[in-house]
Amino acid sequence: MAVKRDYYEVLGVQRNASEEEIKKAYRRLAFQYHPDRNKDPQAEETFKEVNEAYEVLSNSEKRAAYDRYGHRGAEGLGRGFEGFDFGGFGDIFDTFFGGATAAHHRPQSGADLRYDLTLSFEEAVFGCEKELDALRIEFCSHCQGTGSRPGSQPSRCPTCRGTGQTRRVQQSFFGHFVNVTTCEQCHGEGILLTDPCPNCRGQGRERRRRKIVVHIPAGVDNGSQIRLTGEGDVGQRGGRPGNLYVVIKVESHPFFHREEHDIIYDLPITFPQAALGDEVEVPTLNGSATIKIPPGTQSGKTITLKGRGVPYIRDSGRGDQFVRVWVVTPQDPTEEQKRLLRELAKTLGKAEIPRHDKGFFGRIKDAFGT
Ligand SMILES: [Zn+2]
Ligand SMILES: [Zn+2]
Repeated sequence: MAVKRDYYEVLGVQRNASEEEIKKAYRRLAFQYHPDRNKDPQAEETFKEVNEAYEVLSNSEKRAAYDRYGHRGAEGLGRGFEGFDFGGFGDIFDTFFGGATAAHHRPQSGADLRYDLTLSFEEAVFGCEKELDALRIEFCSHCQGTGSRPGSQPSRCPTCRGTGQTRRVQQSFFGHFVNVTTCEQCHGEGILLTDPCPNCRGQGRERRRRKIVVHIPAGVDNGSQIRLTGEGDVGQRGGRPGNLYVVIKVESHPFFHREEHDIIYDLPITFPQAALGDEVEVPTLNGSATIKIPPGTQSGKTITLKGRGVPYIRDSGRGDQFVRVWVVTPQDPTEEQKRLLRELAKTLGKAEIPRHDKGFFGRIKDAFGT
């Protein structure tokens, strides 16, 4: 049996290709080698190979297994390869005997789809319900997927008598053998549409926009993916539908900065507040909270509000909010303020590094674990 080609090589993409690049390459090759269009005898094999590669590389789970363990890894993921025989006797029978399971006849799963969804900062933090306007391939609404005009019936192909294949006995040096090919009249379908559905021109499928409501759990972030099983393109000949993957993008917030499940908030304070201490109200994700600025606070100090961050997706509890304090120097002091500052300056003398072991830069590092 022939050694399988590398799936990335089959699709002609880099190993780090994006989902979009893989889909593009697949569409181009599937179009080029589709046996209905391409009459080269090798085309069908290449078409199968391209489909097989796309089945694996378009599915993040199978792709990860393939990246780690090669073809064996992708096979190890069990079902999901409806429509293709991986190794074993299937290929041999197909090659030598044609079998009743020519590629044309077998079920084919629908394609997985990707939907990019942008959420506001708050929607990502607290979760929400969203209505997606997804474009996908569905069964034709006019003929319910049969491909025939409603009321009419497809007829059995007279050339192959419904098998999808034609057999011819050929004589050769080695004796005679049966040559099995896909039926040219029905292209392997076994049936002929005597009166095709005018809506889908006999395809049985059509591209439609569909509203799908998706529940976004609290705590999602940039790059989070939500899988909607079975909401991708419909399959063919009884193949299962693909999945719809919702990929999340989150808008930034005017004053909160998010680090995974923690929230960082920058609080400007005046020199007297820093020197004498104060109580200040700060915004949090749920209303405001009062924090204490201790006397002698240095610029860059962080004050932690436990459990005021973003909810964990798969766990109870939440991250924290870090309030970073910045001492702001007056930019445009009045004459009176200048006079008072000069008075103050006389009593302060020369500035010194604060009497802490690490200094405030060290503390910032500690607070953020960097
Ligand atoms: Zn139709
Ligand atoms: Zn036929």
